Amino acid sequence: MKKVVLIKFGELFLKGLNRPKFERTLVKNIQKRVKKIFDNFIIKISDSIIYIFSESENYGKLERELKKVFGISNFCVAFLVKKQIEDITQAAIICCSEVKQIGTAFKIKTKRSDKNFKLKSPEISKLIGKSILKKYKDLRVDLLKPQIEISIEIREEYAFVYNKITKGAGGMPTGVSSKVTVLLSGGIDSPVAGYMMARRGVSLIAIHFASPPYTSYKAQNKVERLVKKLIEYAENIKLFVVKFTAIQETIEKNCNIENTTIIGRRMMIKIAEKISNNENSKALITGESLGQVASQTMNSLICTNASTKMLVLRPLIGMDKNDIVNIAKKIETFKISIEPFEDCCTVFTPKHPAINPKLEKIIEDEKKLNETCLISEAIKNVQIIDFDKFSEKLAFV
Ligand code: ATP
Ligand code: MG
Repeated sequence: MKKVVLIKFGELFLKGLNRPKFERTLVKNIQKRVKKIFDNFIIKISDSIIYIFSESENYGKLERELKKVFGISNFCVAFLVKKQIEDITQAAIICCSEVKQIGTAFKIKTKRSDKNFKLKSPEISKLIGKSILKKYKDLRVDLLKPQIEISIEIREEYAFVYNKITKGAGGMPTGVSSKVTVLLSGGIDSPVAGYMMARRGVSLIAIHFASPPYTSYKAQNKVERLVKKLIEYAENIKLFVVKFTAIQETIEKNCNIENTTIIGRRMMIKIAEKISNNENSKALITGESLGQVASQTMNSLICTNASTKMLVLRPLIGMDKNDIVNIAKKIETFKISIEPFEDCCTVFTPKHPAINPKLEKIIEDEKKLNETCLISEAIKNVQIIDFDKFSEKLAFV
């Protein structure tokens, strides 16, 4: 019996011009993934459903991939049958046999979008349910608390029968919105922040500030692996590694010790702004969450924010650490993030950083630096890692 993958997408409230772009991008993103798994397949979209037809049967691998495609609200592998009760019944019986155990309570749920079909949805459910009970005498019907649910959809051309619906990643397809830059430290928060914005359809580039020899190559490698994890969701992400050592040493030598963290953070933002402009990236993303550490009090955030005119997105700003950790675990960045390799901020953190820094004082202190020179030197030496070249190996291993 023929099988087909049915993909349904959310964001149904999308209006007008946005919708065709959403659909086109989603199909393109799905296509890229399926290509890696199936040799031959046809993908088509009709009536707000994306269909994948293929002779291949590696649905397990496909399922793992589809779960990471933003824009999908849910999907299923269904039997595709003629719109005849006998065929639908046969498919429903196979669906049942795949999941049934002795005494299993089941329910048939029918949706009939072809209103010309001779039977109404409840009648179809009843009829098929009876046939299943006749075939499997140890099963029983329970409409309120079924252990298995067999779904039947009667559509224009065919009927579809399936026993499992898999939840998708939700959000908007990567690429429907602008490109933005995530500042990736290697900690728990920033990969989650990047993931959350990618889920809103942006494409990402990432910037990491490294301070060798104070920070080891292992710290950078950790960030590279975090980027690879994010690529599983957000397509390609170019990583820019900025050598931050000279800047941090100069700040430490010249500025008030309690201001070093904030001044360092402002320098990061200024460099990120320059790289973003070159890359046509429209905004910055950080993993800041209000009150989490000294550099994230309201006054500290005001000082950091004032270093750029660019939009800074802080998707974690109102979240508790626990909730952030839960997302990090779900997207599998947590284990990488907690590997104990120091990042440049930890190395240079003063014992008593300013908790309520005043912007005027910070700006005054910054005047001791030859900022233009430091920034252009850092940008000149930036290392760019483009993982797309390795994408064959990356996203699907
Ligand atoms: P994270 O868990 O993301 O490291 P954090 O709670 O440790 O965040 P901070 O160290 O104050 O917070 O950093 C705040 C944000 O600044 C980070 O989420 C990240 O976006 C950015 N950032 C900090 N250090 C770096 C770095 N070395 N490279 C790139 N971005 C950084
Ligand atoms: Mg950190």
